[in-house]
Amino acid sequence: MKKRYLFSLFVVLAFGAVLSILTLTKLKIYGQSAPNSQFTENAEADTPKTPAPNAFIKKTNSSFPASLATAANENRMLKNSLAWTFGAKQQRGWYLYVPLIQQTVGTEAEAETPEFAQAISAWQQKFDLPASGRLDRETLMQMVGWWQARRLKSSRYPSGGDLVAAPIADFYDPSRAAELTRVERETYEAYRKMVAAAAKELNLKTTKTGELAPEEKFLRIVSSFRSREYQEKLRRASPHSGSAGLAVNSPHFTGRALDIYVGGEPTITKDSNRALQVETPAYKWLVKNAEKFGFYPYYYEPWHWEYVPNRAVEIK
Ligand SMILES: [Zn+2]
Repeated sequence: MKKRYLFSLFVVLAFGAVLSILTLTKLKIYGQSAPNSQFTENAEADTPKTPAPNAFIKKTNSSFPASLATAANENRMLKNSLAWTFGAKQQRGWYLYVPLIQQTVGTEAEAETPEFAQAISAWQQKFDLPASGRLDRETLMQMVGWWQARRLKSSRYPSGGDLVAAPIADFYDPSRAAELTRVERETYEAYRKMVAAAAKELNLKTTKTGELAPEEKFLRIVSSFRSREYQEKLRRASPHSGSAGLAVNSPHFTGRALDIYVGGEPTITKDSNRALQVETPAYKWLVKNAEKFGFYPYYYEPWHWEYVPNRAVEIK
């Protein structure tokens, strides 16, 4: 009897224990699921907080009119596909001129952004163009005109005394003929100052005295003063070459035009070569800084820079 009683008691206790465990487990399950559902509910309740990123995006967009977002999308296409002509040559897109365009309109924003479109729009306003923010053909032609207007106007042929013979070490090609190493005096001084500044800022290889080191090719002179006689000689040698290559009135006649090494093939206008050149730190530095030293670009040839010392005064 005592044994049976004990057994019953054991069974009851065991049953109770199992029940308790089950209850606890159940509670625990609820306990776990509760925070989950609560979390879900909270997340729903927090709905106004969760879309904070959206609110931010909205805010970012709202600082630009929708028209600029549209212009940015169109610029993304136009950058590579806009059809236009320069001289008689068919051109496609303006991607080769992005650093120059950015400098001209005063932005560092990428060409596909509303910021860029906004800077274009402000520039268009200044030139009485429809301020769409789209870098369309009309705007590009206006900009090309602006770049061209800042170039050398004078085609004055220098007298012997106006020219200095630059050391061959300044030249890209160390075997260049002596008759091809002359530069107009002031232009050469300005070039030296510019290269000294660039060498520091671009960390170019220099000697102890701050000159470009012999192995450094960037910013060396590829071509400077060309005499009429020399140009004539070239023309006779290749009578079918294009007018751009061997111009009858080359700015190089003045001694104030320098072809400067900015990467790639020194002076090849092929798009692929220019695409490489306009991405080099040397070219980008020139675009931003050359003007301070009196040098202005010929937009179509990333290597060609002209010394126009009084340009800043003239255009004001
Ligand atoms: Zn040139």
